[in-house]
Amino acid sequence: MLPDIENLLKLQDTDKEIRRLHDEVSELPKRVAVIEQKLAGTKAEMEKAQAAVKADEASRRKFETNISDLRGKISKYRDQSLDVKTNDQYKALLHEIQFAEKEIGANEDKILELMVNADARDKEVKAAQAELKAETAEIEKEKEAARQRTTEDEKLLAVAKSKRDQLRTGIREDLLRHYERVSKFRGSGISEVRDHKCMACQVILRPQTYNDVRSGQETVVCDSCQRILYFDPKEELVAKPETLHRPKRHHPKIDAPQAWYYRSEFAAEGEVFLCLTNANGQASRRVYDIHTGRLRGDILIREGNFREAFPEDVTGSTRLNGNWSEEELDGFGDELPMVILDSLNTDLDAARHEAASGSHAKHSVPAAPTEQAAS
Ligand SMILES: [Zn+2]
Repeated sequence: MLPDIENLLKLQDTDKEIRRLHDEVSELPKRVAVIEQKLAGTKAEMEKAQAAVKADEASRRKFETNISDLRGKISKYRDQSLDVKTNDQYKALLHEIQFAEKEIGANEDKILELMVNADARDKEVKAAQAELKAETAEIEKEKEAARQRTTEDEKLLAVAKSKRDQLRTGIREDLLRHYERVSKFRGSGISEVRDHKCMACQVILRPQTYNDVRSGQETVVCDSCQRILYFDPKEELVAKPETLHRPKRHHPKIDAPQAWYYRSEFAAEGEVFLCLTNANGQASRRVYDIHTGRLRGDILIREGNFREAFPEDVTGSTRLNGNWSEEELDGFGDELPMVILDSLNTDLDAARHEAASGSHAKHSVPAAPTEQAAS
């Protein structure tokens, strides 16, 4: 790999780190703001509870004033009653006194109600105060952590920036300018080439471009995204044995009412897929060409289950995954649909691969993909 490319890769990592730190530093005040907003919410709750207590106290004072006013009125009426001349006047005063007494009763009831409520109000205030206290402590801690993180980030940022300046001096000037221009627009300025593709924009390279990148003699840019291209031979070695990543093959059930098999020789037909199905005490057999998916010969029906009815077909065949209903099979007619044929061929491929690597693969299921006749 060219030293310029190596430096550019390091520069790209450093640039990414600088961006990440910048983002984090600018995120922190936003986080603190969110935290403080939450605290303001709790504070408002507490103030509301305190205001409710104050309002109750004011109401109580008002009711008490009402009561003392009413008492004053009553004693005034009593004094007047000593001087009345007629029975009607006396009755009227008595009526006024009764009315005032009733009013006093109503005000006393309201005071009593407020006293009962006061306990609940008091609890509300205390709970809000406790919550505010806990939250304030928590938030102070978070704010302190945010402050510390910012300080650390700023230190890291300074280190990364000086590293970037250092790296820039080790890169050819025109290349550096190109890298920075592309980075600005695309977020990255250098891209790996793997499987003949630019991994950043996924465009397949022209053979000449690919060879130039591989040879590592000169710097080449992607025709499509303009990123500077590089090739890492280590990655190729790692990527090569793709068979290692083959997903584990699903194994068909031994007692399934339908089974698909592959036979390398079948009468005069050559390679075929066999579909054996049990239904209503009878077994049916369909034979398909593995390349064209065409049905070969007639559908054969025999008594019993397919293992008993077609032992010569089961023995030594490769069992495959596949299960379609009788209606679906009839619907396929004389030719398997392409998707079905593909899925059978893919499974056959997997079964072969499994058989080939069976000796060193760990299997919880019997590894041998060929079957023996039911005994
Ligand atoms: Zn590209």
